[in-house]
Amino acid sequence: MADRVILHVDQNSFYASVEMLRWPVLRDVPCAVAGDPVNRHGIILAKNQLAKKAGVKTAETIWEAKQKCPDLILVPPDYARYIHYSRLARKLYCEYTDRVESFGIDECWLDLTGCPRDDGIAVAEELRRRVKEELGLTVSVGVSWNKIYAKLGSDLKKPDAVTAITRDNYLDVVYPRPVEELLYVGRATSRKLRRIGVRTIGELVDLGPSYLRSIFGVVGLSLYTFATGLDETPVTKAGREVPVKSVGNSLTTHHDLYTEQEIKAVTYMLSESVTSRLRDVGMAARTVQISMRDYQLYNFERQASLPFPTQLCYEIAPAATRLILNHFEQGQKIRSLGVRACNLIPISRLKQQSYLPHEKKREAMLRLEETIDDLRGRYGGLSVRRGISLVDRSLTEHDIKRENVIHPIGFFGP
Ligand SMILES: [Mg+2]
Repeated sequence: MADRVILHVDQNSFYASVEMLRWPVLRDVPCAVAGDPVNRHGIILAKNQLAKKAGVKTAETIWEAKQKCPDLILVPPDYARYIHYSRLARKLYCEYTDRVESFGIDECWLDLTGCPRDDGIAVAEELRRRVKEELGLTVSVGVSWNKIYAKLGSDLKKPDAVTAITRDNYLDVVYPRPVEELLYVGRATSRKLRRIGVRTIGELVDLGPSYLRSIFGVVGLSLYTFATGLDETPVTKAGREVPVKSVGNSLTTHHDLYTEQEIKAVTYMLSESVTSRLRDVGMAARTVQISMRDYQLYNFERQASLPFPTQLCYEIAPAATRLILNHFEQGQKIRSLGVRACNLIPISRLKQQSYLPHEKKREAMLRLEETIDDLRGRYGGLSVRRGISLVDRSLTEHDIKRENVIHPIGFFGP
């Protein structure tokens, strides 16, 4: 059987690059994206080239980074924006194959085997160029016949480069590399390997499968398979990895809610953030769930099925509002509200039902809501607002999606 054609595309300094796209002045200074910048124990999540040159490392504390680079500019992470760009990149990859598997927020494997365009290097070069031109970001791409080598290849030359690992060159390219560069060789395994004198991937291979098995058990066999390029793990189809079971958001308001109008305003705002996240992850909900807590901290939850799977605020918000108002009594003081979309299904699995009369209207609403996602992604969550949110600004003056955003790891799996 012919070899597979597998690409691994890695977005370079992803968080930092997205920030530099937004604030071009950051290109000329050492900068880093850091969790909790006010706290000096916060962690560096990504850095630009100038910060890298100054010795700043990912995962070290702000305090350590500042010691090496006192002028370091810190930017807080904006996951909603990173997810937005991650999704754009994925969309582009999906033009070439339906087998696109995300690995974290900024990496994907593509399997081009049997696709109309299956010249790995040519497609890799084209992707590199297109991501730069169309998104303003750079990627490094590894090309090989298995996922492990493709991943290793994307690490070898970066930023903005393509590396092919072939049957002809892998002994020279892969085997001399440090064993830590092999995917899944974590710190514990690496320490164990170093202790028995293994420093390179080639030296790992030299130990042979049965010896590796005697030290590491089944993991040893996997290591041997990975190191030798024998791994046959498939690239999962786009949309198959579905770790998200539900998407929800809740808010404890600045003051208790007394009127139906106030409740409606907050419910719409929550529904907007929930449906925007649904669109980010390409899912539709079949059930909506609400939660309510009054000033005596009495908790209340209800759910209802939706007439058809949806990712539209236009449909989820009225359903959530109805559920809440059905159970709201005049005089009740509401302290906190939550909206959750459950029973999710990937939109790729929904059949197009455009023959239904309301389907045209739904498609138009989807385009409208996606446009709002895009505007908010670029200009901030408060750049486009619903009329109803102006009922009481103190209630709705939240960039709710950003302030409570779920960490993207939850969206894309390990
Ligand atoms: Mg990366």
